[in-house]
Amino acid sequence: MNGLIERWKSRLPVTSRTPVVTLGEGGTPLVRADRVAKAAGLPPGAVFLKLEGLNPTGSFKDRGMTLAVSKAVEAGATGVLCASTGNTSASAAAYAARAGLRCVVFLPKGKVAAGKLSQTVMHGAEIVEVDGNFDQALAMAVQAAERLGFTLVNSSNPLRIEGQKTGAFEVVETLGRAPDHHFIPVGNAGNITAYWKGYTELGHRPRMCGWQAAGAAPIVLGRPVKNPKTIATAIRIGRPVSWTAALAARDASNGSIESVTDAEILAAYRFLAREEGVFCEPSSAAPVAGLFKLAKARKAPQGLTVCVLTGHGLKDPGITARFKPRIRRVKAGGRIVL
Ligand SMILES: *Cc1c(COP(=O)(O)O)cnc(C)c1O
Repeated sequence: MNGLIERWKSRLPVTSRTPVVTLGEGGTPLVRADRVAKAAGLPPGAVFLKLEGLNPTGSFKDRGMTLAVSKAVEAGATGVLCASTGNTSASAAAYAARAGLRCVVFLPKGKVAAGKLSQTVMHGAEIVEVDGNFDQALAMAVQAAERLGFTLVNSSNPLRIEGQKTGAFEVVETLGRAPDHHFIPVGNAGNITAYWKGYTELGHRPRMCGWQAAGAAPIVLGRPVKNPKTIATAIRIGRPVSWTAALAARDASNGSIESVTDAEILAAYRFLAREEGVFCEPSSAAPVAGLFKLAKARKAPQGLTVCVLTGHGLKDPGITARFKPRIRRVKAGGRIVL
């Protein structure tokens, strides 16, 4: 089973002595989204979705985690540690289990989606619930990692960014070119930084267009947000770790970082599920919400746009309760008119 380290080793900081900890991550589908394109007033073939929810633990975090954990083992670490809104902890817990390392996670109380928490529990991570938000949990995680001598596997770890840049390599490989616009949700801003690094290493410069949730949009506002609020918990970040790098990617690519409301995110989330057959988590719908927002303002991006759908819909089953299904009930063997 080969993952992205084997696939891209010449472009990653590994040697033949690096013990590769892999679950077969990467190689995710890039699917055409003609219904999204049509709804945005764009021609067929103008929009593609990178389905990162199809990674082993259901989010793109696995791309960085395979490398961060492999290098932690190579360095002789006894454990890994992170703060997380859920997907980083699920991924860290899985890769640590596979590597036989201890894994400690700091989670903001009550703000982690059910699917992500179940993964973290089942992979045997040691969970610390922080009565505070992600940013506060991260500050504690940094100190605890130092104290224990564990490897911090948050996106402040440059190996996470190195692993995640392979997403850009795959997009270029599949399309045979780079997109004109790269749409991506922005939380701690590690992933926008990573894709930009990947594209530029191949000599490409697509416009990097990041999307934050309106209630958690520090980069858009130009100042930290003390109490970030959004249903898109994976991007509920008030003080992004890779803030400066994200601004650099935005400016060097002539791109943008803007925000969408929770209502816009949920509308795109539903549209993707109903019209494209793609079930992502709410945060992942932010770039598509952004595309629809631009289209409404008659500013839809011309050319080829790739939207990264960062995590799987099953991660956050709680949100689906907002969408009341019409269910008809019948006794076994009874008559039902459809
Ligand atoms: C982590 C995460 C994000 C945010 O990525 P950053 O690198 O923190 O900007 C977005 N969506 C999902 C599903 C995530 O897990």
